[in-house]
Order: sequence, then C-alpha cells, then structure tokens
Amino acid sequence: MLDLVIRGATLVDGDERATVVGDLGVEAGRIVAIGQVPGAARVEVVAEGAFLLPGAIDVHVHLRSPGHPAKEDFATGTRAAGAGGITTVLDMPNTEPPTTSPLRLLEKRRLAQAAARVHFGLYLGATADNLDTLLALEDRGQPPVAVKAYLGASTGSLLFDDPGRLDRWLADSQTLLCVHAEDQRLLDRAADRGDVMDVRGHGLRRPPEAALAAVAIATGLAHRHGHPVHVCHLSLARELELLATSAAERPGLVTCEVTPHHLFLSDLDLEALGPLGKVNPPLRTAEDAARLREALAAGRIDCLGTDHAPHLVADKHGPHAPSGIPGLDTAMRLLVAEVLAGRLSWARLAAVTSGRPARRFQLVGKGALQLGADADLVLWRPGPAQALEATELHSRCAWSPWLGRLLPPPPEAVWIAGRLLAARGRIVDDGVRGLEVRTR
Ligand SMILES: [Zn+2]
Repeated sequence: MLDLVIRGATLVDGDERATVVGDLGVEAGRIVAIGQVPGAARVEVVAEGAFLLPGAIDVHVHLRSPGHPAKEDFATGTRAAGAGGITTVLDMPNTEPPTTSPLRLLEKRRLAQAAARVHFGLYLGATADNLDTLLALEDRGQPPVAVKAYLGASTGSLLFDDPGRLDRWLADSQTLLCVHAEDQRLLDRAADRGDVMDVRGHGLRRPPEAALAAVAIATGLAHRHGHPVHVCHLSLARELELLATSAAERPGLVTCEVTPHHLFLSDLDLEALGPLGKVNPPLRTAEDAARLREALAAGRIDCLGTDHAPHLVADKHGPHAPSGIPGLDTAMRLLVAEVLAGRLSWARLAAVTSGRPARRFQLVGKGALQLGADADLVLWRPGPAQALEATELHSRCAWSPWLGRLLPPPPEAVWIAGRLLAARGRIVDDGVRGLEVRTR
C-alpha cells in the first residue's frame, strides 16, 4: 500500500510540459506513481480543482544562523518557507561567523540538520584567500551548493571586489559562482550622493550604474572562462538587456534570479515603508519592477531568490537601519496572485521556482513531478484573496512589507519527502526535518 496518494489535481511539472489532471502516489519519500493510481493508500488526499507543483526552491536566503538568533534561525526561517510553499532553501554565507571554511560549513550543517523543517543547501563565501578551500572540497567530492562573491559590500564582511582574483576562482574551480552584482568602486564614488540615514539617500548611494558595471564584470568573467555564473537579485530592466546579450552569445552560461521585493515593490513604496524598505540592491522604479515581472512571465528570468533577509522592526527603525527585507512567508503567494490574475502561467511559475533552479544548482531529485523524484510537493487551491496579517507570519522578524496586501490563501498542503509539514499556512507536524541537498 502506498504511503500517500493525491487524487485529481492538475499536475504542474517543473519542466513546462503541458499540465494534466491525474493522481500522484508516494512511497518512502519518493514519487512512485503518476496518472491513474488504483488501490487505497495510507493517506488519501482529494485534490480536484487544486494545482500540485514540485516544492519551490529558494536559491537565496539568509537564515541568520549562526550569529543572530533574535532575527531568525533554521527553525523559524524554514517554518516560514514550508508554510509558504518553499521546500528547499539555499542559505547564504554572510552569517557570523561567515561560512568560509570546511569547519564553518560543518558547524552550519549541524545547526541546519537539527532544526531545518525543509531541505537546505549551504553556500561557501569567497574570500581573498580561500580558493584552496573550495578546490579541496571539490577534490573530496563535497563541494558547497554554490559559491557566493560580493562584488560590493552588503550585510556582513564578505566583500570580494578584486576581478583579478575572481579570474583565478573561475579558471581553477568547477562550482557555480553566484555574485552580488554591485561594483564597489562605483558604490564608493556615489557615497556622498545621499544621506546614509535616509532610505531614499540609501538608493542614491547605490545607483544603477554600480549594478550594471558589476553585471558586466560578471558576464565578462563567465564568458572568458566558460564558467557558470549566476547573478543574484536583479533589480533593473537594463540588467536584463546585458543578460540577453550574454545569452545570445552563449545560452545558459549566465543565469539570474529576482526577488519578490524587486518584482512587487518600487521606490514609490518608500514613503510608506521608510527604513523597512532599505535593501541591497535598493528598490528601483515602478517601471523597472514592471519590466522584471514581464521578463519573469516571458521566461527570461531563471530563478526565484527571495533574498529573505530578516531584521527586527526595532533594528530597522534604529539609528543604523540594516538593509534587508523578509520574503519567505509571502513569496509564493505573491507569485500565485500573478497566476490567478492571468499574468503568469502555472507552468512558468513551477519552472522558475523549481525546475530551473534544480537544474542550475544541479540538485538531485528536486524540481520535478517525475517517477523517482523526491516527494516535496505543494498543493495550491485558488480561493478568495485575503489581506495579509502579521499573525500569519512564521519568520521570527514578524513583519512584512506586504502587510495588508490582498493575497491568495497559503498552500492547502505542503509535503517534505512525503510527510505533511504544513496545511493552510499552519505547521501541522513540527517534527519534520529536511535533508541537505545533494548535487550532481
Ligand atoms: Zn542576499
């Protein structure tokens, strides 16, 4: 007898194949049957009228562990992910201490294994002197899920702004390099353009030309070495143009991600948000956000990355407001709202949030509704929109820039390797633990 059968849902694959209505059977944490699944299962789910997708993969989160448990940790951050339909998170290295050595990776792995309610992968932070660390991990067959390089300073201490050294990283290593694309020299040059205490001043100090210069550096390095590079958190329509030029020359070499806040907020929201809207790269114009939404719907953006970067409200309103916006609780509901409004297809949503990230980060068993794939599944049932309330949030930071926004209901059910973690926005089995992703 199968462990679980979900019956009569519209099955939405991560590979943009045509959707079909059918059943899906699960045993021992894997998908073992698709189509008509006869016979009873231990758990039967009636899913007519609902949409079953591979669990979303968020390729960019900051779960603040180790270092800032008051803001977030693996338990709270992954409850937010799971309840919102995200079943795998890739955690960034700018924790305290930063994840820059095998020992630090091991320490973070232990924290995640003990507490993560969804699956996880861990980035290694690139520094001026740890290329040998990465090469040793690759030799042992234990590379990090990806490497992160900060071409401009952001939160934490991981600035890596020496293109000469980056040249060596790309020449010598195999691992996907993800870049925070703001060029430090141009950030330095703009440092007197705005008041550091003011959120609009923050935007002036991190101008579009810094992002465009860094994307040009990153794509240049990628093409010179034929090495895969991934551009984090696009914020500008003009970045899309640079990436289109790169893709015309060599498709798939340079990929990109977009955050919910660069899709669904703009500098017009800064008046209402104040320091809560301070983020790197900054919120851009409404025109940029509209162009990013168009590009997402047209398949020109590869991945969702929430850049979930929780800070407490008191910190954000304090004298040195840190940059960062939380997104795990709300990202998928914002995107499903686009689907229900007819601006994004279910197939494209699944591709951008599961199929394409799984392929880009080479995650074994993820991102597909296929026989043998991991049974990380999310069931969405369209329902009346409701205004987002703070009581719905699982992130420890307990705020969202979208409070009050009309959003579709949270996913009806979320399974991690076939175990029900969350239903209708609530954690129903807090004993579920995710596993570290395996890469090919
Ligand atoms: Zn980030």
